[in-house]
Amino acid sequence: MSNKVFIFDSTLRDGAQADGISFSVEDKVKVVKALDEIGVDYIEAGNPMSNPKDMEFFDRIAHLELSQARIVAFGSTRKSNISPQEDAGLKALEKAGTSTVAIFGKCWDFHVTDIIETSLEENLNMIRDSVAYLKSLGKEVIFDGEHFFDGFKNNSEYAMQCLAAAAEAGADCLVLCDTNGGTFPSEVHDITRKVVDTFSTAIGIHCHNDCGMAVANSQMAVEAGARHVQGTFIGYGERCGNANLSTIIPNLQLKRKMECIPEASIPRLTMIALTIAEISNISLNKREPYVGRCAFTHKGGMHVDAVNKTPQSFEHIDPEAVGNRRIFLTSEVAGRGAVISKIHKVSPELTKDSPETTRIIKRLKELEHAGYQFEAAESSFELIIRKELGKYRPLFELVSFKVIGEQPYREGLSATALIKIIVDGKEEITAAEGEGPVNALDKALRKALEVFYPEIAQVYLIDYKVRVLDGKSASASKVRVLIESTDGKDTWASVGVSRDIIEASWLALVDSVEYKLIKDIESKFKAYL
Ligand SMILES: [Zn+2]
Repeated sequence: MSNKVFIFDSTLRDGAQADGISFSVEDKVKVVKALDEIGVDYIEAGNPMSNPKDMEFFDRIAHLELSQARIVAFGSTRKSNISPQEDAGLKALEKAGTSTVAIFGKCWDFHVTDIIETSLEENLNMIRDSVAYLKSLGKEVIFDGEHFFDGFKNNSEYAMQCLAAAAEAGADCLVLCDTNGGTFPSEVHDITRKVVDTFSTAIGIHCHNDCGMAVANSQMAVEAGARHVQGTFIGYGERCGNANLSTIIPNLQLKRKMECIPEASIPRLTMIALTIAEISNISLNKREPYVGRCAFTHKGGMHVDAVNKTPQSFEHIDPEAVGNRRIFLTSEVAGRGAVISKIHKVSPELTKDSPETTRIIKRLKELEHAGYQFEAAESSFELIIRKELGKYRPLFELVSFKVIGEQPYREGLSATALIKIIVDGKEEITAAEGEGPVNALDKALRKALEVFYPEIAQVYLIDYKVRVLDGKSASASKVRVLIESTDGKDTWASVGVSRDIIEASWLALVDSVEYKLIKDIESKFKAYL
């Protein structure tokens, strides 16, 4: 049996059904790029029928050049008592234009009779017709057997007939779904083994985490012969979430020597997990296996001593294998390696042991303690390094700003900002109206700066995220604002933290424009050399 396990990511479909997750089309494109970069085989992009945003997204990604991943449109078998040609869902799948589709069909007799209220025979026809129809369009068809394990436990003969209907109609993969997440690993193993022994079609697994066993169940299915694993990259999904691929991939690849993603991508797992968390505007669970911040963090004195002597004493793998890092909470060693590469961009001559490096690390620690986070805010990070090394001069001086909110609400004009700045001794006062205080302030600042730095006109915000850091203080809580800006060529992100959301936004806005101006000045300077 082959060692290759196909990885199918459903962050944009099952993941988008998680409480608290909402992706814009822009976010979805970024998730696709991140997943493609790490080399997953399939990216389930959404249901073109249930969501108009998804259809727009399919149009967008049709033009994306992906290196490895196949985009998958998701839908279901046809409705009862109509032909596949008449079914709106199947039509939408055709229109989505992807070469691979995933459709789910009922495999639990009780769901057939009591939920969609049709006959067991008609459900088999629905599966057979829908798969055959999509195959006639030349598509790769992945059949998701919904509630397969519950169905098998209730009526194994019928559950197997459902798979047989899909297989006979030409399905390329039969995926066994533990839709309610209530099945145990030993059951998953035994049932998957029976399916693998019965069918020559490739078998897949799709687990939910309602018993905290989605990863274990996926693992057992692979050990029983499944070679296609569905999940979401950092595990979120409906209710308690889906099987977490950032755990499953290294488990299979590092511990079981199976091939999931290209070998060279394994050290990028942590980075991609952080990226997807950031796009989703959630904090990556710091206790996540392999990729969480605590996965290789040592605190107890005896543990620290032992790891210093021999890392294997308290680490199951080398953290760098998955792109994570070892942290000693009681030591100063933390983060030095990660920081030095960034310092080198500004001052290549500095080393890990330079006093400047120590000073920068101290400053970063203070800021992180105050709620800053720099993983996704490279431009603010670089500005701090510049400030500590004296390679920074302020490009403008703020005299004051004032923001006034207006009621009743007027669309696009609900706030006014007034700003006074000084550049090279010249004062500039401007005002701007905007959609809310932050937008008004952003416009006023850029309008004032444009007088001195015309290139600022090309800069605009593409993303703005706010996270409350300590919910306990209610409306006086500290917030972290992360903004992403572009000048049409490059994009960069900056961060600000304060108890005042306007102040936090201001800090991030200032970093964003300063970073752009410093980059421009440096590239002009280089052109003269
Ligand atoms: Zn699911």
